[in-house]
Amino acid sequence: ETIQLDTEIMQIFDILKLSAEAKNTTLVLTSKESIKLEFVADEFRQMMINLIDNAIKYSEPGNQVEVDLSEEDHNIIIRVRDHGYGIPEKDVNRIFERFYRVDKSRSKEKGGTGLGLAIVKHTVQNNCGKITVNSQVGKGTEFMIQLPKNKE
Ligand code: ATP
Ligand code: MG
Repeated sequence: ETIQLDTEIMQIFDILKLSAEAKNTTLVLTSKESIKLEFVADEFRQMMINLIDNAIKYSEPGNQVEVDLSEEDHNIIIRVRDHGYGIPEKDVNRIFERFYRVDKSRSKEKGGTGLGLAIVKHTVQNNCGKITVNSQVGKGTEFMIQLPKNKE
């Protein structure tokens, strides 16, 4: 189906509103380009919920989480950025593995299973896309997803 990305993101912000409010976190869509994409809507939502949920969960209260949408020649670019704990370099290559969690004690206290990013990666790859992560401990993390407009 064809999905309208900014509309989807706003709906996801609404779904995550309570957990964001509980951490005094502001969710911001920094670009409102009207981008359309061929994608299974449920999978898109799950993917974005997992990333934004992480961004909220792994940040101190009172921070901002930003989602940015843009278009390149053949790709759609989605960025999810937080100003949270960041991910140590030794762990960053493993976070997409099932059940891998960086800080065992902190993760346990925050709940979850360690499957979120494995699902995200699976969805991205299923749609011929790429995901990369840029992170600095104590500064924050940015996930970037590239999705081809045309999957053929
Ligand atoms: P689940 O998503 O199943 O509730 P989870 O959040 O622990 O559990 P993932 O979403 O797969 O699992 O993330 C794996 C690990 O990567 C997390 O436990 C956390 O240590 C780290 N991580 C993920 N996103 C971020 C982020 N935005 N900032 C800092 N660390 C992160
Ligand atoms: Mg998660």
